[in-house]
Amino acid sequence: FSSRPQSEILYKEALEHIVGGVNSPSRSFKAVGGGAPVFMKKAQGAHFWDVDDNRYIDYLAAYGPIVTGHAHPHITQAISEAAANGVLYGTPTELEIKLAKMLKEAIPSMDKVRFVNSGTEAVMTTIRVARAYTKRNKIVKFAGCYHGHSDLVLVAAGSGPSTLGIPDSAGIPTSIAHEVITVPYNDLDSLKEALERWGDDVAAVMVEPIVGNFGMVMPEPGFLEGLCSMTRANGSLVIYDEVITAFRFHYGSTQTYAGLANHAEIEPDLTALGKIIGGGLPIGAYGGRKHVMEQVAPLGPAYQAGTMAGNPASISAGIACLEVLQGEGVYEEMERLAIDLTSGLQASADRHGIELTINRIRGAFSTHFCNHPVTNYDQAQDTDGERFASFFRHMLNRGINLAPSKYEAWFLTTAHTDEDVQATLEAAEASFKAMAQE
Ligand code: PMP
Repeated sequence: FSSRPQSEILYKEALEHIVGGVNSPSRSFKAVGGGAPVFMKKAQGAHFWDVDDNRYIDYLAAYGPIVTGHAHPHITQAISEAAANGVLYGTPTELEIKLAKMLKEAIPSMDKVRFVNSGTEAVMTTIRVARAYTKRNKIVKFAGCYHGHSDLVLVAAGSGPSTLGIPDSAGIPTSIAHEVITVPYNDLDSLKEALERWGDDVAAVMVEPIVGNFGMVMPEPGFLEGLCSMTRANGSLVIYDEVITAFRFHYGSTQTYAGLANHAEIEPDLTALGKIIGGGLPIGAYGGRKHVMEQVAPLGPAYQAGTMAGNPASISAGIACLEVLQGEGVYEEMERLAIDLTSGLQASADRHGIELTINRIRGAFSTHFCNHPVTNYDQAQDTDGERFASFFRHMLNRGINLAPSKYEAWFLTTAHTDEDVQATLEAAEASFKAMAQE
């Protein structure tokens, strides 16, 4: 059982200087009963060490980017070389061309790419480009999908199947939220209704084509095909937010994922990327069809810029990360471990009479404390948050680091081993046993 007095001390100090003690609200333990989050001081491969020298097996993977495990030597070397040569130029570099070509080869719908600094920026700009291209204002998004924290996408569904958005955060004018229409994921009827009602002003339909933000949720057969054909028929653009999904399940994006049938039918006009493509350093990118991307300055009227964009350090780390992912059998191995882990978790939960639904997509999965499937946000919300909080704390105390939210995924990395999986299953068995007695 880990005890964490140093984390407690640092949290108190952090609270005095950093708002909420954390630099992203998802790192706080608010959703799992509060208290001090764990302050980590070192990470290597699949493992973390906290400031009290407790060791953890990490399944957070920094919310996705760390797909090759922490401090992967190939990426570390690329970052060191970049640092030695100067980390920021403010001029173009050859490296940017290399990463752009790698992305284009893996994601065929991207004729042209632009690098930015975060997933938020990438998504935000795809919306601007779609508006510039279509000369329309509204966007349609799906309930529970997260697209970063820019005003337009930080909007929640109101009641009813398709609704104009209500702000999900203070500081967002209702007038902006009203430019967003929210419909349930995996529900083509609601999308159809929304397009019939507001279609003339819909610039784009934005979706996480495979969802990573209310659990791992696959599109039902025909959903993306229907979404793309309806959207196109309406003269709107399809935007895929693949910030968390690209290069996660295979070397490519959802639009080339083998599990999804007809790739040509599900190609988007614009794609937003981030996370993995920076190998752990800050990055985002967006891209799409040439004629759409040519809306962007300096070619077109849609302005977007960035002092740090395409910096050699992030780009080098991204190239190195993708090189590791090109290795033979990399995704198969992450999937093999995830299968062992999820089947063990399910068996263990069943043994202790704990209702658990697991959604696994290759090497990533989500654990939902409920007895029903999770295919949309309503179902993901309708799961037992207190049970999750209890599980989270039991696992943490036994050295397993998960995201402190019932909606987030577990990520296997290329650094996890059978030994890690076995240790995790032992921790889970003890956790479920304790939970059954609570
Ligand atoms: N889109 C998706 C699908 C995401 O998962 C995230 C981050 N979790 C973002 C956008 C925002 O990316 P960032 O945190 O890099 O701004």
